[in-house]
Amino acid sequence: MAERHGTPLYVYDGDHLRRRYEQLRAALDPRIDIFYSLKANPNVSVCALFRSLGAGLEVSSLAELVTARRAGVDPDDLIFLGPGKSGEELLACCAEGGMHAVVVESLAELAALDALPEAAGTRAILRVNPTFESHGSRLSMGGKPRQFGIDEEILHGAKAAISALSRVRIIGVHAYLGTRILDAATVVHNTTGVLRVAATLAGELGIPLQTVDIGGGWGVPYFDNESDLDVAATVDGVNRAVSEFLDRYPGTRIVTELGRYLVGWSGTYVLRARYVKQSRGEWFVVADGGTNHHMAAVGIGSFVKRNFPIGSLTRADAPPADVYTVTGPLCTPNDVIAKRVPLPEVRPGDLLGVSRSGAYGPSASPVLFLSHGHPAEVLVLDGVGHLVRSRDTVDDLLRPQHLIPLATF
Ligand SMILES: *Cc1c(COP(=O)(O)O)cnc(C)c1O
Repeated sequence: MAERHGTPLYVYDGDHLRRRYEQLRAALDPRIDIFYSLKANPNVSVCALFRSLGAGLEVSSLAELVTARRAGVDPDDLIFLGPGKSGEELLACCAEGGMHAVVVESLAELAALDALPEAAGTRAILRVNPTFESHGSRLSMGGKPRQFGIDEEILHGAKAAISALSRVRIIGVHAYLGTRILDAATVVHNTTGVLRVAATLAGELGIPLQTVDIGGGWGVPYFDNESDLDVAATVDGVNRAVSEFLDRYPGTRIVTELGRYLVGWSGTYVLRARYVKQSRGEWFVVADGGTNHHMAAVGIGSFVKRNFPIGSLTRADAPPADVYTVTGPLCTPNDVIAKRVPLPEVRPGDLLGVSRSGAYGPSASPVLFLSHGHPAEVLVLDGVGHLVRSRDTVDDLLRPQHLIPLATF
């Protein structure tokens, strides 16, 4: 792939992704619908692959919505979520073809949606910011003052506002408590809590529980101090909570939305060593790609630099020969992909791979920094690599800019 498409390059192993999805699908209660969160990896072919496997799609912008439609999503397997939807986005949610539901994140947004003539018959799900807390996630999004969702306390008193809706129909409740959860008990605690809050609110507000979106946030371990989510225990606890809920509310559609967990493991960021040099006794590999494409490698939510798993692809089976710091082409000391990692001997031209990089890669990185642009992306299916995104050319980068005529003196 590196020979054919050049480096730096993201390679997504679609066969691996498919196996992981199918394992999860087989283990989860069939009454739980899996929705893929495009935010984690918005490539249209990756989305189409999830679609072909039977996943629904969860989008958070107009471009993600169009991506999902191009990926062939069935409108009933599509939801739109996000705290700051534009008027254009709200309108697109109501448009022809529609979607399963818009997840509304404030009463003001709900009123704005309801005011659109096009919203007649549009379904909405209330995103609640619950009062219960969730401690096991790396980035908590519930229990605190947050820009996401509607505080549970506010919803307790929102019956009048909801009864006053003239076009939009509320069909359920959603909550998402945080991302990068690696503790099964936390996922189960969140699931149980969300289902409990949904039941309470439905009773108080007189809304149907046609759909409850229990969120997700299942993590992928990246760093040495992290251990993998116990999937068996997670699935077991989630299935049990959902099953108890469905005994009381048969017919409710249960949705779990997962991004990182579904794609994170299946991606490798491939970079080529350009220069290998020593500085004051330490070895540096200066590669053709860096944190401009892989910001997460800087170390998420941590002040200490921790390393993503990285290896030599050229000398994959060789034992470590030295300790190297791998950096990219940016003119900032923060452009460190891996700090002081043992690697087999690295020579200029060698390929290195950062694994578990399928989620929050280029789309969550400053790809325009130093005007290097977006890297190419390849999706491997049945062992065949397909180019699913071309790298940005200089022309791609300069086209949207406008050179204004300036007077010369
Ligand atoms: C980001 C996000 C997701 C996906 O999160 P992952 O941790 O990648 O699974 C799902 N739902 C909401 C509301 C999000 O903000």
